[in-house]
Amino acid sequence: MTVKTIITEPNKLLRQISKPVENVGKEEQQLMNDMLDTMYDANGIGLAAIQIGIPKRIIVMDIAKDGKKEPRYFVNPVIVKKDQIKNTHEEGCLSVPDQFAEIDRPSKCDVEYLDYNGKKQILRAEGLLATCIQHEMDHLEGILFID
Ligand code: ZN
Repeated sequence: MTVKTIITEPNKLLRQISKPVENVGKEEQQLMNDMLDTMYDANGIGLAAIQIGIPKRIIVMDIAKDGKKEPRYFVNPVIVKKDQIKNTHEEGCLSVPDQFAEIDRPSKCDVEYLDYNGKKQILRAEGLLATCIQHEMDHLEGILFID
């Protein structure tokens, strides 16, 4: 349980391409716990490992409302299917404080990933969930929503 420092633009680390995780072990689970604490502390709904300076393909998210907690963990996520229909959402980012922009992204996507226990899963995402996972996955490629 550690709240880490979130790095912000124009820190060059944010432009780095994150590396795949070979194995989901104790170290990776500890990292996911810390990422989640960091994200909750900053009132965010998603965080990629590179945002705390660690170039690993790991994302945590929680889009639940009303104080409920529904943490989600994604290791090595890959989009395997995208809808042609686009959706526009106003996006913000913990690494780009005080900036918001309307961004078009596929309204639905299927994502393959490993979960907290290293088990292969598939997520069929739409709405805010689809927007958020695509935003976080951009971080793994060194891309920010302001680009
Ligand atoms: Zn972001």
